[in-house]
Amino acid sequence: MDFQPDEAQAAVAAVARQYARERIAPEAARNDREARFPAHLVKGLGELGLLAINVPAEHGGSEAGAVASALAMMELAAADRSVAVVAGVTNMVAETIQRYGTAAQRARCLPRLASAEWLAGAFGLSEPAAGSDPAAMRTRAVRDGDGWVLDGEKQWISQGDVAGVTVVWAKTDPAAGGKGVSAFLVEQGTPGLTVGRHEEKMGLRASPTVSLVFEGCRLPGSALLGQPGQGLAIALSALDGGRIGIGSQAVGTMRAALDAAARYARERVTFGKPIAQHQAVAFMLADMAVDHDTSRLLVLRAAALKEAGRPFTREAAMAKLFASEAAQRVVARAVQIHGGNGFTEEFEVARLYRDARVQTIYEGTSEIQRMVIARKLLEE
Ligand SMILES: Cc1cc2nc3c(=O)[nH]c(=O)nc-3n(C[C@H](O)[C@H](O)[C@H](O)COP(=O)(O)OP(=O)(O)OC[C@H]3O[C@@H](n4cnc5c(N)ncnc54)[C@H](O)[C@@H]3O)c2cc1C
Repeated sequence: MDFQPDEAQAAVAAVARQYARERIAPEAARNDREARFPAHLVKGLGELGLLAINVPAEHGGSEAGAVASALAMMELAAADRSVAVVAGVTNMVAETIQRYGTAAQRARCLPRLASAEWLAGAFGLSEPAAGSDPAAMRTRAVRDGDGWVLDGEKQWISQGDVAGVTVVWAKTDPAAGGKGVSAFLVEQGTPGLTVGRHEEKMGLRASPTVSLVFEGCRLPGSALLGQPGQGLAIALSALDGGRIGIGSQAVGTMRAALDAAARYARERVTFGKPIAQHQAVAFMLADMAVDHDTSRLLVLRAAALKEAGRPFTREAAMAKLFASEAAQRVVARAVQIHGGNGFTEEFEVARLYRDARVQTIYEGTSEIQRMVIARKLLEE
């Protein structure tokens, strides 16, 4: 058993770390304040090969594997969670097209996603009345000659307004329940697709979150991803991988919070000594480090299983559950250690606190992760 990344994995992490520190971090606070999507930074991610990390080179990807992908995501998230979301969702969409797409779909989408010619890929599953329970979705796709017509509304779609392609799930056979859902690739500019509301969020403000409205949106037959009725299975397998990504985001968030808190605790003096020398503060730092390291190990275990081609659904859910919950504790302690300063936007920990909050919610809430873990456990 080896607890260290190998040379190639460490090299991908180093590339991500350098870009994150030198280019992403310096403008993260401003992009958050102005809710500005940093297209120029996303282009840079494409140039560095960080948008299709786990996709074969023949399709423009970096072919670096799931572990390297997780390590890179930790580095991006330590600098800016919004940028990490763009990279995370785009990687997830690219992997989904790689796995389920036809040769023509791969050839069209993957090089454009990998290079950031298309600024992002988007994942169009959730709806106003269907988040945890996607089988309750109302969006319909009806056959029309050799194509399909899409009607409905998706909500909460990260980068839905800037994405070159969105994977959209719709019911093609409503009587079949969850087995009547299919997935489609819908490109930006398709007639009948409009961007609706932009959410005003408490965190991740540089990552746009929008609703997408489909009204008589006609798609060619070639837009179908996978088989009719296979949609929910495609979504669940994509989310297994995505959860390693959210766990990685949580780990990066915790590392940034721990670094900031340790730095502050060494500098801030009360009662004649740095607060780090008060045991109550030192113990908070110790607990934060344990939460970080435990989460990192769980995330890398799930990534290693995925890379080895072994089942990893349970481990990905465990990693996402534990890391996202641990991140809540860690960012709260980081704010506490900063005292009043922690409650101001002048210090990074306030933004970390706001950004971390969604990690227990998206790509399956903590309650849904517990359901997945328990189901897998009882199956065995
Ligand atoms: C910033 C942001 C970005 C997002 N990006 C995307 C995206 O790109 N693509 C996309 O498709 N979606 C996206 N989402 C949607 C996200 O995945 C959903 O919000 C999430 O899955 C929860 O769904 P919901 O909001 O409908 O909550 P609900 O499903 O209504 O859940 C409400 C509460 O009830 C609990 N609950 C529900 N069912 C059960 C149950 N059976 N047992 C116990 N508890 C239960 C939940 O855990 C939660 O606490 C995003 C959301 C946010 C906030």
